[in-house]
Amino acid sequence: MVEARFKVPVYTTQNKYKIPSEMTSQLKGAVSGKMIVSMKKEAVNCPVVNSEVPFLVCFTCPSFLNRVKGVVGCAGEKGPDWPAKK
Ligand code: SF4
Repeated sequence: MVEARFKVPVYTTQNKYKIPSEMTSQLKGAVSGKMIVSMKKEAVNCPVVNSEVPFLVCFTCPSFLNRVKGVVGCAGEKGPDWPAKK
C-alpha cells in the first residue's frame, strides 16, 4: 500500500473554478450530485504543484489516496492535470 507523503487539509474556497466535465463524469456513480455541488466549493493547497487546486481535481489526481476527516492523504508522486490543458 502507498504511504501518504503529505496530509493536505481541505478548505472552503471563495474562488469559482470551472471543473472539466471529464473530471466530474469520473465521479458520477461514486459520489451523489449533491455532494459534487458542495465539493465544487472546496480546495486544497497542493504541495506538488504549489498552488490552490479544486478538491474535485485533487480527488481525481493520480496521487490522491484518501480523504479522512477533511484531510487528503497524498502520495505526492504525480501532480494533478491542473490548470487543465485546453
Ligand atoms: S498531488 Fe494530487 S492528491 Fe496530492 S494534494 Fe495535489 S492534487 Fe491532491
